[in-house]
Amino acid sequence: MPTNKPEVSDNVKVVVRCRPLNQKEKMMGHKHAVTVDEIRGTITVNKLETPHEPPKTFTFDTVFGPESKQLDVYNLTARPIIDSVLEGYNGTIFAYGQTGTGKTYTMEGVRAVPEQRGIIPNSFAHVFGHIAKAEGDTRFLVRVSYLEIYNEEVRDLLGKDQMQRLEVKERPDVGVYIKDLSGYVVNNADDMDRIMTLGHKNRSVGATNMNEHSSRSHAIFTITIECSEKGADGNQHVRMGKLHLVDLAGSERQGKTGATGQRLKEATKINLSLSTLGNVISALVDGKSTHVPYRNSKLTRLLQDSLGGNSKTMMCANIGPADYNYDETISTLRYANRAKNIKNKARINEDPKDALLRQFQKEIEELKKKLEEGKKKKVSPDKMVQMQAKIEEERKALEAKLDMEEEERNKARAELEKREKDLFQAQQEHHHLLEKLSALEKKVIVGGVDLLAKAEEQEKLLEESNNELEERRRRADQLRKELEEKERLDIEEQYTSLQEEAQGKTKKLKKVWTMLMAAKSEMADLQQEHHREIEGLLENIRQLSRELRLQMLIIDNFIPQEYQVGVLWSFKECFKL
Ligand code: ADP
Ligand code: MG
Repeated sequence: MPTNKPEVSDNVKVVVRCRPLNQKEKMMGHKHAVTVDEIRGTITVNKLETPHEPPKTFTFDTVFGPESKQLDVYNLTARPIIDSVLEGYNGTIFAYGQTGTGKTYTMEGVRAVPEQRGIIPNSFAHVFGHIAKAEGDTRFLVRVSYLEIYNEEVRDLLGKDQMQRLEVKERPDVGVYIKDLSGYVVNNADDMDRIMTLGHKNRSVGATNMNEHSSRSHAIFTITIECSEKGADGNQHVRMGKLHLVDLAGSERQGKTGATGQRLKEATKINLSLSTLGNVISALVDGKSTHVPYRNSKLTRLLQDSLGGNSKTMMCANIGPADYNYDETISTLRYANRAKNIKNKARINEDPKDALLRQFQKEIEELKKKLEEGKKKKVSPDKMVQMQAKIEEERKALEAKLDMEEEERNKARAELEKREKDLFQAQQEHHHLLEKLSALEKKVIVGGVDLLAKAEEQEKLLEESNNELEERRRRADQLRKELEEKERLDIEEQYTSLQEEAQGKTKKLKKVWTMLMAAKSEMADLQQEHHREIEGLLENIRQLSRELRLQMLIIDNFIPQEYQVGVLWSFKECFKL
């Protein structure tokens, strides 16, 4: 039944995760500049070289310190989104941050170690665990796709031809999609894991420097879950949830120095998807923009629904703990802070146009009907064996008959041959139909059947740690309340003596003074960052204009004027060259 559930308006959830200092950083004597307070949900960053500057503090929905566990990260951040996707909502999980801060660790983790698996493999166990527990009359269809955007080019990581680049298209009924992107139907968590491995191998195909490549490309793993159930109106209804799991390119500023020609062009283009993402976020939250520049990059076009649209979205901002990362850490935290204010409107996708489950189920019904009809026409397998035997018998009888004209005999032979051929064809067709049916039936998963295989342990692990988490969460809430109570700046405070009043007010004044200083330094920082951003953009424009002028010069010198009319003219006109 088309549930008239209203849209759920919800802000993008933003969480921050700080990784531990690594061996190299420890050896080089780097210090922790980041303090994570998981109870209060705050991240405090100190500038160790200028200790007089007040530390900067940011507050988020949830924060994770260097000791955080992968299973807790999953249960606290991803689980509610995957639960919604299983209900038919769209969901998106982004990992944002500087290269080397743990985006891939958070999204994928160490897949060989159960406790260290990241969000993507844990979601596999979660999804199939849910299906295994569903009622037996529910049908599911689960498919995955995996793509990469590098240099504003889209590559299908599960495609046969890794040299091929795919186009982003749009259709009014289904929205933005990628033409020819392969989608694999999967039946269990292990299938999904295998597909992920295949995509992984392909990520490095054609990359000269894998580290650089992965830090500059965006990887999107998409799981589409369709679920068909009988509604209150007696009809079957399909709900479809799409889950995008996105490992973004490193957010570090591409150095202006050293990058020239091809490298710079690449840097500009890679920045394009990421900086457009930033611009989209800014436009969505500033409240004044009437135009959100989704169309300016492939990434934002593909994920348009995830930001400000029909999706439940979570962003994990990853940061490093060390002092030398100060600038990038602050920049990531600011970015994350802004993203908190994006409002999404998610709704359950009922009977969408691009659902496959309904189509598969219809095809299955039709095939079954055809097979049934075949049976009635006496082409069931045992009937066919009988018919074959009969033909053999008649053939023997024919050859044994002596008093027959040769012409007549030939005619009879031809007749038998034709019957044999027809029979063979019917057999073939029957076989073909059966094969088709079994292939289709394999794709559709029946609820309540155990599909976890090796992932069962993982699902148990997840559930257990989720239960444990509930208890911890309750305690943390309690603690937080107590803390807030203690720290509240009590304006209405009553004093019994003048001295006490002076003491109390001095304390307050100090606190307010610190707040003022922090705000001032924050403002100065913001101005500086803004200035840096503008500088970067201007530099890009200068570089692109130089290139454009060079191209025009070449064209003007080598292509005669009369061939330039039309396209080139309008192009020049357009760019006022
Ligand atoms: P990114 O994808 O952001 O470039 P990675 O996920 O590759 O970063 O992380 C860089 C290194 O740090 C990897 O060796 C990874 O295992 C390690 N690492 C990242 N986050 C954590 C964490 N929370 N705990 C332990 N190790 C981590
Ligand atoms: Mg990575």
